[in-house]
Amino acid sequence: TPSEFIRNFCIIAHIDHGKSTLADRMLGITGIVANRDMRAQYLDRMDIERERGITIKSQAVRMPWSDEGGQSYALNMIDTPGHVDFSYEVSRSLAACEGAILLVDAAQGIEAQTLANLYLAMENDLTIIPVLNKIDLPAADPDKYALELANLIGGKPEDVLRVSGKTGMGVEALLDRVIRDIPAPVGNVDAEPRAMIFDSVYDAYRGVVTYVRMVDGTLKPRERLQMMSTGTTHDLLEIGVSSPEPVPSKGLSVGEVGYLITGVKDVRLSKVGDTVTHAQKPATEALPGYTDPKPMVFSGLYPIDGSDYPILREALDKLKLSDAALNYEPETSVALGFGFRCGFLGLLHLEIITERLEREFGLNLIATAPSVIYEVTTEDRKTVTVTNPSEFPTGKIHAVSEPMVRVAILAPKDYVGTIMELCQSRRGALLGMDYLGEDRVELRYNMPLAEIVFDFFDHLKSRTQGYASLDYEPSGEQEADLVKVDILLQGEAVDAFSAIVHRDNAYSYGVLMTERLSKLIPRQQFEVPIQAAIGARIIARESIRAIRKDVLAKCYGGDISRKRKLLEKQKEGKKRMKMVGRVEVPQEAFIAALSGD
Ligand code: GDP
Ligand code: MG
Repeated sequence: TPSEFIRNFCIIAHIDHGKSTLADRMLGITGIVANRDMRAQYLDRMDIERERGITIKSQAVRMPWSDEGGQSYALNMIDTPGHVDFSYEVSRSLAACEGAILLVDAAQGIEAQTLANLYLAMENDLTIIPVLNKIDLPAADPDKYALELANLIGGKPEDVLRVSGKTGMGVEALLDRVIRDIPAPVGNVDAEPRAMIFDSVYDAYRGVVTYVRMVDGTLKPRERLQMMSTGTTHDLLEIGVSSPEPVPSKGLSVGEVGYLITGVKDVRLSKVGDTVTHAQKPATEALPGYTDPKPMVFSGLYPIDGSDYPILREALDKLKLSDAALNYEPETSVALGFGFRCGFLGLLHLEIITERLEREFGLNLIATAPSVIYEVTTEDRKTVTVTNPSEFPTGKIHAVSEPMVRVAILAPKDYVGTIMELCQSRRGALLGMDYLGEDRVELRYNMPLAEIVFDFFDHLKSRTQGYASLDYEPSGEQEADLVKVDILLQGEAVDAFSAIVHRDNAYSYGVLMTERLSKLIPRQQFEVPIQAAIGARIIARESIRAIRKDVLAKCYGGDISRKRKLLEKQKEGKKRMKMVGRVEVPQEAFIAALSGD
């Protein structure tokens, strides 16, 4: 297709505002998916995506549509993940488009991710088509929110389209508007080829399928390709477009969106954001935009049954093939045995990986409390990067800095007080506050990432009856008065419970954990003190009283074979026990204490 008859666009929206439903509807209306093949969220291929109703991996699909004069066009729709954890993928998808449909639920109005995605689209110079969705809902108030949208992006409220992805109302007019308003892609047909990778998916049968947007030149099957960030070369086995099933083609040219298959088995060789060119006649300059996705949140993953360790390793190796953002390395813990320290883009990413490990590989896992990356400078001015509290340097500390995020919260104005209270209790500094309409407010805070990774979103939701929405982006590092709190059993630190917390919260963390453990650890032959400590200073203490549990006492002087049986039985019972110094603790106690049950 000549580039003047191509339109590349994406749909950006806050989660649940109906992006996937609208995408499905477009597939139906343009006729590329017959009604009988239609299932909800056609483009969300992973089970977890369909169940949770979220899009994790973006997909691209090509649809035919004709303008009023009968001229036919190829519309490439790129579905983007809506969640902040995956914002790097969102921004790569946006860079592959000339326009974006900004979709807003007509019963909800603008939410935090609406804004975050809109700002990303504006940074990429995309033409924005504002659209209100779900106008079939009785609670929809399109007049009110059309005004809100027009105020936000400029323009007139009448220009805001009104559709229902559910009934299909207004969707044809929206497709016409895509052709009319979104500019055709421009590029140099005669130049050395440059294609931007905006997604890379591992497929068990076909290997890695790489989704690209051609910027300059042409790529054809059987050519030899080069990845510009690494210089690695691959044979192009197949090239084509998704419509929405893969259709091989004779090549892709300027402005086109499609897929490449090179037979590689690992998405790390075909990275999102990288530029693909010819191996023989390479382009000299890569397209802007490649950065490695950085893990923000770390957690230890341990199999509950220690003998599952090899399965966990294999499962992580497999998931890594399709998820370049997943990081892991082996780690051992006194309390939990052998496991892996894993790095994630955010909490949702952590949750999804753990769920996939359990579901797709039949593993039973325990995850340690999530931790962020700390930079710790010791008194002799050495700086250590700490992603696991047990690596926190001992001895005198000069300074500790932690990652900060710029948080945006949108909510009805009645909740401003309770939100401010919550943010202050999480060490947030108010940056500003704006009214978006008569009753919706945007609050902006600078806040430590560590304060929001835990349960901030749950608290925010419950304080606002579910009305608040949240978005955040990294905003550098900041020094803070942070300390490591250790939990000691009879004087020995139990690694899985060490935590890096603000000094003001150290005491309450210590009390919480010592109390929890004192209820979970069974009594021993001797008294066991449970303490919380900062360095050598004890800040909280509980103890477990001694019992005399001497199985042999029952058969004092008695028959030797009975004695042996009893001893064996006791050993059996010890199997799932972990020794911390002289104290034996059932693994279940550690797990329960970590999960807060
Ligand atoms: P996404 O998270 O933006 O992809 O949103 P989904 O497409 O998964 O939709 C979220 C929810 O809104 C689902 O329960 C949909 O059935 C519902 N929904 C989507 N579009 C419409 C619409 O036009 N009208 C109504 N009534 N419900 C809709
Ligand atoms: Mg979706």
